Amino acid sequence: MNIEDHRRLRESLGAFALDQLSPGERTAVQAHLDGCADCRAELAEILPLAAPLKLVDPARLDQDPGAPPAWLEGSILGAIKAEPRRTGRWWLAAAAAVLLIGGAGIGYAVAPDPPKIPLESVQVTAVAAGVRSTADVVPHTWGMEIKLVGTGFAPGKKYHVVVLDGQGKVAPAGEFIGTGAKQMSCNLNSAVLRADARSFEVLDETDQVILRGQV
Ligand SMILES: [Zn+2]
Repeated sequence: MNIEDHRRLRESLGAFALDQLSPGERTAVQAHLDGCADCRAELAEILPLAAPLKLVDPARLDQDPGAPPAWLEGSILGAIKAEPRRTGRWWLAAAAAVLLIGGAGIGYAVAPDPPKIPLESVQVTAVAAGVRSTADVVPHTWGMEIKLVGTGFAPGKKYHVVVLDGQGKVAPAGEFIGTGAKQMSCNLNSAVLRADARSFEVLDETDQVILRGQV
């Protein structure tokens, strides 16, 4: 792969993390990631930042088209401010995803469906009172995705998720905002491979463990 092709592929990692690529493009990126440690490292940094965008539930947007929630824009702006050196075009892909979401859900609705991947249901133990949750994990070539559904996370409060491997190493898997009694559903991505992952934890703003999952 020449330098120009590699630059273009690297710029598509943001869109890849957001599931915004066509199946063909996605396959090309996946094949490249298998052989390129640099791009895997780049993706590992992008995934936790991209996760808030994936919180948006397309089903809810269909019923309630409108502007993206303020916290969603806030997450992106916050991430940009936190990472000023990250000026590559992948942020355009992130912004485009927000515009699609903002466009009355139409753009989101016509986006290609991600390929159907079998979900693996995992055991979740709530540590905090009032929290009820289930989780499935999806193995990817670049890491593991956690699909978390639950209620009882304090509304408006920020939670972060980490994945632990067999050596006790901790990797970030993204953040979400609690929705109280209303069911919350989000996809969280970590760069820990499914085979290496042992558990994940959801922590609150004071780093208290709210729930644990065995994977
Ligand atoms: Zn590469």
